[in-house]
Amino acid sequence: FDQRDGVIWYDGVFVPWSEAKLHVLTHGLHYASSVFEGERAYGGRIFKSEEHTERLHASADMLGFRIPFDSATINTAKEELLRRMNLVDAYLRPVAWRGSEMMGVSARHNTIHLAIAAWEWPSYFKPEEKLKGIRLDMAKYRRPDPATAPYKSKAAGLYMICTLSKHEAENKGYADALMLDWRGQVAEATGANVFFVQDGRIHTPKPDCFLDGITRRTVIGLARARGFEVIERVILPEELGGFEQCFLTGTAAEVTPVSEIGPYSFTVGDITTTLLRDYDALVRGQADQLNAAE
Ligand code: PMP
Repeated sequence: FDQRDGVIWYDGVFVPWSEAKLHVLTHGLHYASSVFEGERAYGGRIFKSEEHTERLHASADMLGFRIPFDSATINTAKEELLRRMNLVDAYLRPVAWRGSEMMGVSARHNTIHLAIAAWEWPSYFKPEEKLKGIRLDMAKYRRPDPATAPYKSKAAGLYMICTLSKHEAENKGYADALMLDWRGQVAEATGANVFFVQDGRIHTPKPDCFLDGITRRTVIGLARARGFEVIERVILPEELGGFEQCFLTGTAAEVTPVSEIGPYSFTVGDITTTLLRDYDALVRGQADQLNAAE
C-alpha cells in the first residue's frame, strides 16, 4: 500500500504517496497514541465530512492530545486531496499520532502529526452480491469496560481486539465477527455496528461501551423516518435465535445484511433491504444535490 502514485496530505503539505513516512521510534506506533477516521466520498462529495472531523478532534482530546489543525483546515485538506487525486468514489483515512521526540510511556510534549490519505473505493451497488448477506463468527475477545479505555475515541489501541477477532473469523471462513462486551452483552462487529429485526421492530445495542457510529445514527434516522420502531436496549447472545433479520452499519460496511452468526441464520428481509436502499439513496442523493448546486 505504500508504493502508489498520488499524494498524501501530511502535516499541512501534500507529499508524494511513497514519501509519506515516519520514524520507527514514533510514540504512536509503540504505545498506540493514535486516532483515526474512516470516511467515504460519493460522487466527489465526502459524506458527513464535518462530523468525521469533529469526531477526530474529540478522539484526540480523549487521548489527551490536540491536533494542531483546526476543523476548517482539515475539511479543506480532504476536499483538496480528492481533487488532486482525481477521486470520485473514495475512502479517506485521516490519522493523527504522537511523534518521536520522547521514547517512553510519557510523551506529553511530543509533536502531534496529522496525515490524510485517500484512495479509490468504488461503491458498486450490486444488490445481488450484497443481498446474500455475510456470515459472522462469534468473537473470543470482548469490548472492554468503559472504565478500562475511552471507548468513544476512535483510537488505534482499541482496534487490537478487532484485528484479532477479524483474523480469527477469516481464518475460519467467516467475513467478520460479532463481539460481545465485557458483560457478555451483544456489542458490535469489528468495524461496524449491529442491528436486528424481530416482528417488524428494529433492535440495536445501546452504544455504552463501543462507537456510536455515524452510519448507525444515520440509519436509525432513516428507519424512524420510515415509521419503523427502533429500540436501543441490552441484547443478550441467547436472544440471537429469536431475530429474523440482522444487518451491520458503518462507513465501509454501509448497510450490510448478515445471513448467519455462528449457529443462527437470518433472512435478508424487507426492513434490511429498505434501509440498504434508503442509505444508498441518501449518500448518492446528497452528492447529486451538492454537485447540481454548483
Ligand atoms: N464500530 C467500529 C469498531 C468501527 O470501527 C466503526 C467504523 N468507524 C463503526 C463501529 C461504525 O462507525 P461509522 O458508522 O462512524 O463508520
